[in-house]
Amino acid sequence: MAAELGFTGSCPVPDRYAPPPGDESAAIAAVLAGGMLSGGAPVVADYEAALAARFGAAHAIAVNSGSSALHAVLHVLGARPGTEVIVPATAPLPTAFPILTTGATPVIADVAEDGLALDPEDLARKLTSRTVAAISLPLWGYPAAVTPAAQVLAGAGIPVVEDAAQAHGTRISGRPAGTLGIAGCFSTHDRKLLPTGEGGFILTDDDILAEKTENYTRLGHLTGRQHGVNYKLAAPLAAIGLRRLPQLDTQIATRTRNARVILSALPPGGPLAELALADGDTPNYYCLVLRSSLAASPAITAALARRGLAPDTLRWNYQGLHRRLMFARWASPCPHADTLIGTTFQIPVHPGLDAAALRCITQAIQAAVSKETRP
Ligand SMILES: *Cc1c(COP(=O)(O)O)cnc(C)c1O
Repeated sequence: MAAELGFTGSCPVPDRYAPPPGDESAAIAAVLAGGMLSGGAPVVADYEAALAARFGAAHAIAVNSGSSALHAVLHVLGARPGTEVIVPATAPLPTAFPILTTGATPVIADVAEDGLALDPEDLARKLTSRTVAAISLPLWGYPAAVTPAAQVLAGAGIPVVEDAAQAHGTRISGRPAGTLGIAGCFSTHDRKLLPTGEGGFILTDDDILAEKTENYTRLGHLTGRQHGVNYKLAAPLAAIGLRRLPQLDTQIATRTRNARVILSALPPGGPLAELALADGDTPNYYCLVLRSSLAASPAITAALARRGLAPDTLRWNYQGLHRRLMFARWASPCPHADTLIGTTFQIPVHPGLDAAALRCITQAIQAAVSKETRP
């Protein structure tokens, strides 16, 4: 079957996408000419204003990484030794490390059966008087539904922090990811949709949280009245972000188009379908995520891996947080997360794919789901 499709080798899929060079050089040159390269330069405030406007948040605070964004927000929300932070079992290590940085205990909760949102029942079991925050994770740019886990958390008065590091431009129930909880934390690392090399930012509508986070990430403005860290984003990186931000929507449109090409070639009712989406949910297509049954997964995994399209479990050794060695002491069974991780396939749809690469991916997926294909 694969031979009939005229394709047997690996897909020439570029691993990384870099936006086409724009006028970043001019922007950086302007920063250099201004003589201020630090996070105190005016371009950083301009970048923050543009971020707040783009995502519809009252405040945006630029920081030097997504990890810093998570750490600062959790710290400001009171995460300390003796407190607990809820984190979904689907969390990759960079989502969970900032909890450890605060000294708080990570409490690993299962996701709901149908997706990436926290499971309300497991959540209810795991909330304690020590819980200071819960992390919601729209992984792969796919919406993590807000209800009913949000209702459980709201009822208990626990703030939700979104790790939207992969979810720039994703819409959840019609609202931008990163604006549904008390704060949204983003990364602008080179692999993310708004790349500045390294970097991150925080969105919040909460004036007090914004002020405290701003203070904490800027050394308490050296007043000597409070402790702070230096998580400022350097001016040249803010200049890059400011130039690239307007391209985000075009990039998402291209990713969406590529995803539709692949999805339209999937046999209806076949063993692979897109990860379930609710009304008002729009992924940013950080990648296209397909899902199979547990029974079909091993054969599809093997077939895709042979063609250079290995899922994250093979490619990055992605596994549930509760299965990571260093999180073993905080582990509990998370069967929904195990199933989700074992049955999802991450397919590149970035704008760096040309028509041939897209055709190759489509054919590889068709071959993988065809009954003719056996390892
Ligand atoms: C990239 C990423 C982070 C960390 O961001 P950095 O900028 O690399 O520190 C956190 N969480 C998720 C889900 C990520 O993808």
